[in-house]
Amino acid sequence: MALAPSDTQRVILSTIARLMDRFPPDYWKGLEDRESYPEAFVAELEAQGFGGLLIPSEYGGAGGSLSDAALVLEEIHARGGNAQPFHGQFYLSFLVSRFASDAIRRKFLPDLAQGKLRMQSFALTEPDAGSDLARIATVAKRQGDRYRIQGHKVFISRVEQSDLMVLVARTAPLEEGAKRTEGLSLFLVDLREAKGIERTRIRTMFNSQTYELFLNDVEVPAENRIGEEGRGFEPLLHVLNPERILIASECIGDARWFIERSAEYAKQRVVFGRPIGATRGSSSPLRTRTPASSRPTSCDGTRPDSTRRMRMRRRSASMRTSRNTSRRSAPGRRRTWPWTSTAGTGWPGTCTSSGRCGRRGCTRWPPSRTISSSRTSRIRSSASRGRTESRGP
Ligand SMILES: Cc1cc2nc3c(=O)[nH]c(=O)nc-3n(C[C@H](O)[C@H](O)[C@H](O)COP(=O)(O)OP(=O)(O)OC[C@H]3O[C@@H](n4cnc5c(N)ncnc54)[C@H](O)[C@@H]3O)c2cc1C
Repeated sequence: MALAPSDTQRVILSTIARLMDRFPPDYWKGLEDRESYPEAFVAELEAQGFGGLLIPSEYGGAGGSLSDAALVLEEIHARGGNAQPFHGQFYLSFLVSRFASDAIRRKFLPDLAQGKLRMQSFALTEPDAGSDLARIATVAKRQGDRYRIQGHKVFISRVEQSDLMVLVARTAPLEEGAKRTEGLSLFLVDLREAKGIERTRIRTMFNSQTYELFLNDVEVPAENRIGEEGRGFEPLLHVLNPERILIASECIGDARWFIERSAEYAKQRVVFGRPIGATRGSSSPLRTRTPASSRPTSCDGTRPDSTRRMRMRRRSASMRTSRNTSRRSAPGRRRTWPWTSTAGTGWPGTCTSSGRCGRRGCTRWPPSRTISSSRTSRIRSSASRGRTESRGP
């Protein structure tokens, strides 16, 4: 499977890169301090059509794929931003464009694609039902052409900033279904007109507009149900699975951002007369983990230069090893040292290090050795007696 970004994706990435120049770290820090929603950033992305990235082109969207969305989110985070409002909009538009009725799609998708509406809120979690979603107790009862919803939700994000919210409720009790996941239904709630929703902001450890909701007889038109009544679990998976992929992309972007900041700091911070990056303890982990800054890690198969160098070093070491091994092995015999038993580890076991080699699966004995008194006689103190030393090759 090709992992390099397509030409279109490269254009998307460069657009995001240019856009993020207008939303520098100070912008995000200011929001964090005020715990505010990134209104200007969201408006700008909507104006550029990113709100409709996953909406099919027949409704005016870009008809993009989940990987396009993942790239956008990763790039925003890799440049110090917080794309949460968009992960909400992406997975919910993915859901609505696949499972909502034609009427609902025609009613909402074009405005969502044009950035006239926001659908960034999803209400599933309850005080007694998080991971175990089948235990939700919010109930939706049908009365003619409407449903009346009663319940309590917690940790529901962007309720105040969104026009539309997708809500999960039970239309049949848990005990009645043959499976625990039966009896769940999904509803599109138009927050601009819904009555009976009481909300309280929950303080979170990072800047997230998250709320506790009490739903007191909230009326929703029956046509706003997404999917069949009582069979909402399948469409729900089309929210939860993309959600995980999209949030993981944001995390990869965060990792790129933090590693780059750490690498910069390690170059600038001088301790004992040299930058801390010059010490092995700081430089090795950063060098091996720093991706090439201009490349997205999730789709570009190219490894960072330092990693490539390390792999080449390892390869040449293993070639040296196999040469040594072959000299000692009779033709056709298994090429392992007698002291490397790696059965079951999947590693052929060609360790030639004179001390602990550090490779997983290397069972060379002894893995470490006691410092001999002759080598340490000059430096040995009573505190170091009995210590062991590991040596590289
Ligand atoms: C900032 C923020 C924003 C959020 N926004 C939303 C939102 O917009 N909409 C929404 O519906 N929810 C939202 N949530 C809620 C979030 O999705 C839930 O926290 C999540 O589903 C986990 O539920 P829980 O907190 O009840 O954890 P629990 O279900 O109580 O689980 C606690 C821990 O146990 C682990 N665990 C549980 N069962 C198992 C098992 N069988 N094996 C191994 N580990 C297990 C879980 O992984 C978790 O780490 C938000 C949460 C936060 C913090």
